[in-house]
Formats: sequence, C-alpha cells, structure tokens
Amino acid sequence: MTKFAIGIDLGGTYTKLALVDTKGKVSNRTKLSTAAYRTRAGLIAAIVAEVNAVLAKARLSPRKILGVGIGVPGIVDFRRGRVYNLTNVPGWENTPLKGMLEAKLDLPVLVDNDVNLMALGECRFGAGRGAKNLVCITLGTGVGGGIIIDGALYRGSAFSAGEVGHMPLKERGLPCGCGSYGCLERYVGNRYIVDELKGKILRGSPTIIKKLVNNDLSAMTPEIISKAALKGDRLSIDFWNTVGERIGVTLAGIVNLLNPERIIIGGGVADAGEPLFKSIRRTVGERALPVPGKAVKILKAKLGNDAGIIGAAALFFYPETRGRCK
Ligand SMILES: [Zn+2]
Repeated sequence: MTKFAIGIDLGGTYTKLALVDTKGKVSNRTKLSTAAYRTRAGLIAAIVAEVNAVLAKARLSPRKILGVGIGVPGIVDFRRGRVYNLTNVPGWENTPLKGMLEAKLDLPVLVDNDVNLMALGECRFGAGRGAKNLVCITLGTGVGGGIIIDGALYRGSAFSAGEVGHMPLKERGLPCGCGSYGCLERYVGNRYIVDELKGKILRGSPTIIKKLVNNDLSAMTPEIISKAALKGDRLSIDFWNTVGERIGVTLAGIVNLLNPERIIIGGGVADAGEPLFKSIRRTVGERALPVPGKAVKILKAKLGNDAGIIGAAALFFYPETRGRCK
C-alpha cells in the first residue's frame, strides 16, 4: 500500500504545501502568501485549512497518511517541535509549532529547519541518492547548509548545525548580519555578489552584461552573469572564479573535517551552473587534503523548489530513525 505524508515548506515569501508519496512523487501542490498573514495564529490557521483541503481533495483514507512534516527558515528544537525564531518572519519566537498543529490536525507533526529538510530530500530522492555522508548547501540571499552523517541528519547539540553561511572566511572581514565578521555569506550571498559586480561595471570594467540586460543592471542575475561567462566575457569569467574560490575554500574545510561522499549545492546562485561549479571543484581539488578531496563529488541539487516539501514529508518515511535517509 502506497503511503503519503504532507510536506510543508514555510518560507519568508510563500508557504508551499503538497502531498508526497514514499517514492518522492509530489501531488496536490498548493501555496499561501506567508506575508499576507499578519499574525502567527493567522498563518497557522491558514496552514491547517490548506492541509485539510488537500486531504479532502486527494480522498485518501486516513490510514494512508503518515503525518505532516514542516520545514521553517530558522532554528528548531526538532525533538520538541519548537521554533526558536524565524529569519524574515517576525513574531515566531519560541513557538511550540508541533503542539499547535497537532492540536488542530488529527495527525502527527514533525518540525525541522528548512535546509536540513532540503538535505534530507536531496539525500533520499535527489542528487544524494545512494550516498550516506553528504553536505547540502543552499546559495541564495542567505547561505545555509544541512549535514547527513551515516544516513541521518546531524542536527548538533542545540539543533543549529550546518550554518555553512556563517563559517568565517576572513579573519577581520566585513560585518555580517549575524553579528560576526567575515562570514562566507557576506562574500557569496546573492545580493552581495551582484552588488559587487555592479560596482565593477559602474566603474567602467568592459563587459557584455550591459548588452544582455539592456543597460538595466538591476536585472542582472547569476544566470545572466553565467551566460556572459559562457560567451567568453572576461569580467564574468573572473567573477565566477572569485566567487567559486570563496565557496571552494570553505568547502575544502568541510571536506577535510567531514570527508563527505557528496556535496550538493542548490539555491538561486547555483543556477549559475558550470562557470561557478568548475571554479568550486578546482578550488576544492587544490585546497582539500588529497584523500577526501578526491573522494568527494560536488553536484548541483536536483529537486529544485520541491526539495523542502519532499524532505519535510520524508521525515515520516523512516519512522524508526526520524530523518534517516536510508
Ligand atoms: Zn555571519
């Protein structure tokens, strides 16, 4: 009998929700505008209504539904299902989300950090399939990470493991939003790198990017910068070499520390594709120790926007281990 779980990805802009089966197939997708709900209670009530609507529409016997998994952008006490706080969603400090949802839904609920769940989804159904030790990183406005060791999510002693974006890259670097200095995120976060390149173009560096965006530099994205690099644009090639080196140096540290089989990279900046990945792989090859450096494969995430939903549902597919990927 095929079983299902509901996967929910609560993001700063949208809250996405779907039914996922134990083979990773997603159906009955729906989404809410997170920002449209002014209060935590309002958003929770809307999520409950959506879950009930999806279950009614799918007409599945309750016996086939294993539970509701939800990923949130923040630190979560996974054992108690308690959210400490959320990034970019105000008013969620110390929310007992598991208990609040279980009180309204007749189903078990599990709550975890969104990047942890992306790692779990990729490990079980995406680019990590077949691997037992892997690190997943998301390169977007923020930089996040999830660690899977011996098939299970590694959450750390206060559930905050995997903050790759706040690994120090420079000893006395630029101030970071987290309160520290020189963090990786401050040097490879989407907004920062686009601004950095924009500055170079405005100071007169020759590039075909201006033509590609019709002189509107606000339309510049990682994909467009890659398009220019693939056409041989020197500024764009150098740009990805620099960004890839920053990421690669950090990953070389992770490779030396954890000796993972695979590193999976997702998020908007990863859409830059080969020009970025080539530079990351080269740097890891140069900077990691030879044995773990040769063993690791650096791959692009496969599940795209579905990774969070699939990973949230996957929390229920291995009940004996709660989040093991195999
Ligand atoms: Zn930081």
